[in-house]
Amino acid sequence: MIDDLSAAARACFPDSYDTARAAFLAIPADLARSYPCPVAGPDGQPLFTDAAWIGEADAPEVLVVLSAVHGVEGYCGSGVQQDLAKVFQPRPGQALLLVHAVNPYGFAWDRRVTQEGCDLNRNFVDFAAGAPANPGYAAIADFLLPPALDDASLARAEAGLAAYRAEVGERAFQIARKSGQYSDPRGMFFGGFGPSAAQDALDAIAADFDLAGRRFVTVIDLHTGLGPYGYGEVQSENDPASRSHALALDFIGASLTSPEQGTSFSVPINGSLQLFWERLRGDGRYVYLCLEFGTYDQEASRVAYRLDHWHHAYGGGDPHSETGRAARTAMRRQFYPEDQDWKEMVLFRSRQIAVQALSGMEALRA
Ligand SMILES: [Zn+2]
Repeated sequence: MIDDLSAAARACFPDSYDTARAAFLAIPADLARSYPCPVAGPDGQPLFTDAAWIGEADAPEVLVVLSAVHGVEGYCGSGVQQDLAKVFQPRPGQALLLVHAVNPYGFAWDRRVTQEGCDLNRNFVDFAAGAPANPGYAAIADFLLPPALDDASLARAEAGLAAYRAEVGERAFQIARKSGQYSDPRGMFFGGFGPSAAQDALDAIAADFDLAGRRFVTVIDLHTGLGPYGYGEVQSENDPASRSHALALDFIGASLTSPEQGTSFSVPINGSLQLFWERLRGDGRYVYLCLEFGTYDQEASRVAYRLDHWHHAYGGGDPHSETGRAARTAMRRQFYPEDQDWKEMVLFRSRQIAVQALSGMEALRA
């Protein structure tokens, strides 16, 4: 097992969006589709979200695995997809649908956001009904992203954040910072003024592969950056009283966490992808699992975000300038530890959750 995992960990993970995509397109799929992104990569190359279906076309149960909803997190997610494509053993009635680079701009540019500056995992709110309020965000926006990064400005910003943190407590601080804000497109965790173009590819994939019509769909949405190094936390974003949450618990067991219930490393967030599946399938007809792999600590991630956002808000955004390269390197390192032990942990846990999801759907047939 360990020999197999070690070899897979050495072979599966890509070193760029371009090599990740080439490897993904080489997966022997039964059906494959590509969806162009409206913007180009940092070297002018065209970008795509790609889909590969493995199994019978009319399989009533589908395991959907998503990578790079948060762009730069796609180094990990793409590697996991390569591995799952190799180890997946189709069971009767089941198929695997791999969706590569849900946010191809972010992956190619080493950013977490979309081309709209949008956190795609905060973008699925009902904009017609009005975006959620996040009053805490305004109090810390200029501290999270100061207009200048000289020592005095940074010291002022850190002092402001420390004072806010001391005043409201850690959980309220993280909610203000990370739950999603719908007012400041240059700022962090911006949920958008409307649906990102990245949603179009998901809509098209749902239609092309009839994801509304299948008997059951389970989604594994691959993320990195939160929690202990190498651990894969499986979060349910559903209401804890919902049928889909109960099913997720049946599938995964005691390791399932819930931001709503305070058992997750994540605070509750607005506008996550869970809402996409809820609208498409309805409660009890799907399970949505956010599989989040820990990397480095939260304070380090805040520093990487700050450099990336500052560069695009105030620094011109050139991906090849000195600051642009520094921001890309910092973001990539924060969301993709290129260590053999980390990669082995990621692949072990991903296989485990995929098997639990397939077995869980099978058990529902009775
Ligand atoms: Zn993420």
